[in-house]
Amino acid sequence: MKELPAFEYFFDPYGHHAFIQEDMLCDCCSAVSSYHHVALSNLDDGDEVHICPACVADGSAAKKFDLVFNEIDEDVSPAVRDIIEHKTPGISSWQQQSWEVHCKDACIYLGQADAQDLANASHSNKASWMDDFGRSVDDWEQFIEGRPNEDFVVDKYQCRHCGETVLVYDLS
Ligand SMILES: [Zn+2]
Ligand SMILES: [Zn+2]
Repeated sequence: MKELPAFEYFFDPYGHHAFIQEDMLCDCCSAVSSYHHVALSNLDDGDEVHICPACVADGSAAKKFDLVFNEIDEDVSPAVRDIIEHKTPGISSWQQQSWEVHCKDACIYLGQADAQDLANASHSNKASWMDDFGRSVDDWEQFIEGRPNEDFVVDKYQCRHCGETVLVYDLS
């Protein structure tokens, strides 16, 4: 088996469902791969395509099927934008969300946060939640009880420069 490529901005995508584990032919390079990412082609047919990790990582699948795996709204260098849009597997979420940016660079996506992450939330994590949902900090403890759950997913990112953890709240 070929060695699986690492992704600079996506920590362990093989453990976080960005890739499904199943032997399959890659629609891009036609090689058999034990992992594949599923995306919708932007070509005329709009077919679902199955892409091996190598063809995600080198951007060849994005080129071939006109894919944008992830949106990134904020200002980052063209090289970073290219990596997030075309060379990083897509994060599945209910709302199409923009990739998090901190210290003028894209953050590393760490996967979904768990209850412990919410319990350890920093002041700025809570501040963004207060902004998003119009709540006061006094509501926080009550709010996180039993969360995250299937209706309320929290995505966790980390800044590559200052190390800050960024939580993004995703309500179904
Ligand atoms: Zn491939
Ligand atoms: Zn930072």
